Amino acid sequence: MMKFEHVVFGGDMNTDLDRSHSLHVGPLQDFCVRHSLKFCVMHPQNEVPYSYMSDWNGAHSTIDHMMVTDNMYELISKYVTKDDADNFSDHNPVLLSLDMITQLGRNPISHDTSRLAWHRSSDHNIMMYQQEVKRRLCLVDVPVEAVECNDFQCTQHAAAISEYYNQVMNVIQTSAKETIPMRKKKSKAGWNEHVEPLREKSLFWNTMWVQCGRPRQGWVHRLRTITKSRYKRAVRWVLRNQDKLAAERAWQKN
Ligand SMILES: [Zn+2]
Repeated sequence: MMKFEHVVFGGDMNTDLDRSHSLHVGPLQDFCVRHSLKFCVMHPQNEVPYSYMSDWNGAHSTIDHMMVTDNMYELISKYVTKDDADNFSDHNPVLLSLDMITQLGRNPISHDTSRLAWHRSSDHNIMMYQQEVKRRLCLVDVPVEAVECNDFQCTQHAAAISEYYNQVMNVIQTSAKETIPMRKKKSKAGWNEHVEPLREKSLFWNTMWVQCGRPRQGWVHRLRTITKSRYKRAVRWVLRNQDKLAAERAWQKN
């Protein structure tokens, strides 16, 4: 079992904490207490007016929540919603800012869909994808007993829910792989020779700089700046000279 120190948990909880008579407020609060989670909406920095407005009757409520573990609660610097004209949902996205230094790690659960080129898919691709998802989801057994279980302390159904989750994720992935175009892997001429070594140096010093707390001066800062600008310059040079480099590569192959 993996151990996590910092957890941000969020989503549509269908529960407005102000409605204390609502059936779900108690169990949700109970869940948070048991897992040392705190509602961001309770923080002094909270500026979420509401997260949901019904298109049907205009009623407002705050039912979308983010929760963080105790050790992050004091680090909350901003908690707001975004009003975006392009957002056609009746929910507003909730944004949480935390004052902390982070590093991107690799996702331990690999549901890798990074090679899918959604931006290149046609309406037909999307339609095929939807059909495929529907067809495959029908074949997945719903763990009825687990879904209907009302015991909030239950540990008995954890395996069944986890299995169900994996099957649904697999349906999404397999369907996408069969219907959505893949990213083209087109390597640029001269990239491996001229860019890659500088890219690696730049990534290395960037990691070092992050680990040192992102200093604004000093030698780590200087090395990060220098390696980054060399990397950028190499990319520009290789892109500008593609014709020449491609010809060179073709020449060497013969
Ligand atoms: Zn259960």
